[in-house]
Amino acid sequence: MTGSGRGKWYRLGTKPCLEDYPRLAIKDLKDMGIFEKPMSGALTWGDKQHPWLSVRFTSTLASLSISSRKLGLFEPQFIDIDKTHCNFGGYRMWFICPDCNKRCAFIYSMGHQFLCRACHGVGYRSQRMTSSQRRYSKLNKLEQRLFEKRGDIRVKPKGMHWRTFAELHKVYLQLSK
Ligand SMILES: [Zn+2]
Repeated sequence: MTGSGRGKWYRLGTKPCLEDYPRLAIKDLKDMGIFEKPMSGALTWGDKQHPWLSVRFTSTLASLSISSRKLGLFEPQFIDIDKTHCNFGGYRMWFICPDCNKRCAFIYSMGHQFLCRACHGVGYRSQRMTSSQRRYSKLNKLEQRLFEKRGDIRVKPKGMHWRTFAELHKVYLQLSK
């Protein structure tokens, strides 16, 4: 990724970023109910009709196994699931990272195995950006959220409340100063 600021070009680090890799969130899987009874199926990333990645999964009450030819995971990878009870009732679920055995809420695949972020040894993009890069990236994201393209003009996205739009637009103007 490259960007320009006042004619000066800078390059972000060449280290990969987690945002670039498939991620599994334990919360999403819990919400799908796949740890309530053993299940199998496919998890997909990207567009519903044209996902860019799908992996097969089988769950039990306390583990998940994943395989994906595309990721080079031909043999299923087994990931243990842990439960901790919350102070106010209910419970939280965690992946047990297959490498370091620590609890984690997310696991990422970099090429093949799903591991926690510490085991992959990479950071989030925002942590490696300078403040002006961060501002630029924030502005970009806001721009995508705020405007819908209709022909040559940009309009408020359908379904967004005017109040939300006005608030976000204020932030947008402040950032773009
Ligand atoms: Zn780990």
